[in-house]
Amino acid sequence: MKVLKFGGTSVGTPQRMQEVAQLITANQEQKIVVLSAMSGTTNTLVEISDYLYKKNPEGANTIINLLEQKYMKHVEELYESEQWKERTRQFLHEEFDYLRSFTKVHVTSFEEKVILAQGEIISTNMMTNYLLEHGIKTLLLNALDIVRTDKNAEPDFNYIKERISTAIKENPGYGIYITQGFICRNAYGEIDNLLRGGSDYTACLLGAALQAEEIQIWTDIDGMHNNDPRIVDHTEPVRQLHFEEAAELAYFGAKILHPTCIQPAKFAGVPVRLLNTMDPTAPGTIIDNNFQDGKIKAVAAKDGITCIQIQSSRMLLAYGFLRKVFEIFELHKTSIDMVCTSEVGVSVTVDNANHLEDILDELKKYGTVMVDSDMVIVCVVGDLGSDNIGFETLACEALKQIPVRMISYGGSNHNISFLVKAEDKKRTLQALSNTLFGTN
Ligand code: ADP
Ligand code: ASP
Ligand code: MG
Repeated sequence: MKVLKFGGTSVGTPQRMQEVAQLITANQEQKIVVLSAMSGTTNTLVEISDYLYKKNPEGANTIINLLEQKYMKHVEELYESEQWKERTRQFLHEEFDYLRSFTKVHVTSFEEKVILAQGEIISTNMMTNYLLEHGIKTLLLNALDIVRTDKNAEPDFNYIKERISTAIKENPGYGIYITQGFICRNAYGEIDNLLRGGSDYTACLLGAALQAEEIQIWTDIDGMHNNDPRIVDHTEPVRQLHFEEAAELAYFGAKILHPTCIQPAKFAGVPVRLLNTMDPTAPGTIIDNNFQDGKIKAVAAKDGITCIQIQSSRMLLAYGFLRKVFEIFELHKTSIDMVCTSEVGVSVTVDNANHLEDILDELKKYGTVMVDSDMVIVCVVGDLGSDNIGFETLACEALKQIPVRMISYGGSNHNISFLVKAEDKKRTLQALSNTLFGTN
């Protein structure tokens, strides 16, 4: 069994959907196909929710109607027979009437999540109908019956494992099972999601739960590049990554992967392959348990970081000081990414500033507190074990013209991180590419 996930661009037009259908029917292997919403749809659904939050049902209605027209055009292009066109039109009318029903009610974050879920519900139904039209035995599994999060909003892995295994056992004989990425139910049974880009996470959770042979993430680029191709010139695909390296890159901003999606695959030891729907024969990137000695693999950047420094000459060396500091973050459910300590202070970074004011108020009891917002963590990933001498020098050398606020090295053998100002992000990434990968 393999799990194949196709992202928004990969199913972004009727033609792309047809190409995906060709890819998934190219062999007889049993597979689970996880689909995102067609590209742009989730953003449009966010826009609709925003209008409804702002009590502007007319604005929301206009966008819903435009989106419906777009989908009705897709129907004409995607299907051949009037029977499947009509069946899909009927389904879409019901879907869009459902979306319109939210313009008549008070919208909270609960309704918003229901609205956001419709993109994946639509794309999976359209793809299933297309395969059925072509006589391919396909079963649509409802992710809302399979994927659930627990009270900490973390995937409930045992539940997922039990539900996906049961769903397949109870419905044998299918070569292709289609399901929605991104969407799930929470611990209270309400419709929820695994956060933006969450279809990768669904695929990895299902692949790990089924102990699949491989998880394939099909997207619009030939695998993980050695730097962000949207920002840096002349990036190149990395052919192989260790699970730990991929996990660091995803967590520290490589958009090709959802930040935490590698964890379940890593624990289950299921390899993840990143592939390009636009160029299906390109080798892409394999993520597995192999570690290549002495290689720096890639650079990634995570935006929206806040740095908090607590200075306290009196308290720092006293035992228990760091615990007190960390407990304040824990109390406010705010996780810390980077930590640096000195004799007189400690600096930490967070990517969630929602509870910043409360956190600062409590930290002030322990010393002088300073905050730098709008920072970026730039993370260099590869073999950075202490045997591999010289790489940190090279990385620091690359940044000799750039003001660096914090450096973190030694937390793992795979990562050195630099905290810089957002305005310096582009030149930091380019400088690292030039020096580490010789791309200037
Ligand atoms: P999908 O819709 O298939 O999930 P995403 O847009 O989420 O696709 O992810 C693919 C995009 O990630 C690429 O088009 C690329 O612009 C961006 N990206 C950012 N960093 C990297 C990287 N290091 N390697 C490859 N792609 C990256
Ligand atoms: N459709 C969702 C999003 O746009 C999930 C995904 O594409 O992975 O974030
Ligand atoms: Mg994505």
